[in-house]
Amino acid sequence: MPRIRLFIDHPLVAGQPVPLDGPQAHYLTGVMRLRQGDAVQVFNGRDGEWQAHLQEAGKRGGVLTVAAPTAPQQDPPDLWLIFAPIKKARTDFIVEKAAEMGAARIMPVQTRFTNSERIRQDRLQAHAVEAAEQCGGTFVPPVAELQPLSALLDGWDAGRRILWADESRAGPAETLYGLPRGPWAILIGPEGGFSPEERAQLSRLPFVTPVSLGPRILRADTAAVAALALWQAALGDWR
Ligand code: SAM
Repeated sequence: MPRIRLFIDHPLVAGQPVPLDGPQAHYLTGVMRLRQGDAVQVFNGRDGEWQAHLQEAGKRGGVLTVAAPTAPQQDPPDLWLIFAPIKKARTDFIVEKAAEMGAARIMPVQTRFTNSERIRQDRLQAHAVEAAEQCGGTFVPPVAELQPLSALLDGWDAGRRILWADESRAGPAETLYGLPRGPWAILIGPEGGFSPEERAQLSRLPFVTPVSLGPRILRADTAAVAALALWQAALGDWR
């Protein structure tokens, strides 16, 4: 029997019942074939991972009883991912990989050359939840609503540095090992790259560090994973 992990947006306390919604109850009994009393691991993004047991399940929902903690809460480093949404499947991929790679917040932004004008925040949030369930994480990064990049930068807290993946620097990848630790955000552009105005704005900001991600121009989804890996290895929790 595979280890089943479920995100439950509910306080987790030993001995307490927690409600399941209809799709969760269906997943446990209809897909994973759990029966009354079977064990499942649950987490809520705040209280670590717990073992729980299926008490009852029906079409409309069900109930689990929380037993004992199985893993402590582990939050990711203070790293945000800012990216311009691309095609649907590739945007889903970016959100899924950002959650797996340990981003603390995911922020889609509208840039001059952003392909899509809107996102389904609820769908993207569900992808982040699913990624945390799959990868054994106890934290789920919140996915923000789409916002314009220029407005985000205008209101930016200068205490958080931005690692700007700048395609114009494509060449030998810069090492991030000398950069200061602390709060950071990674910025990835859309298929069309950044506009001259966006480049000018980013270049003026003292908290922005432009970097190369190597000699080839990567698709935005590849670039997001590459930048997250570089940052995690040099400044994050891979050390
Ligand atoms: N249309 C752009 C061009 O031809 O130069 C390429 C944009 S690329 C598909 C999407 C995003 O990935 C870029 O805006 C940048 O953030 C990032 N990226 C891709 N390759 C990169 C590299 N070698 N160095 C830095 N950033 C890169």
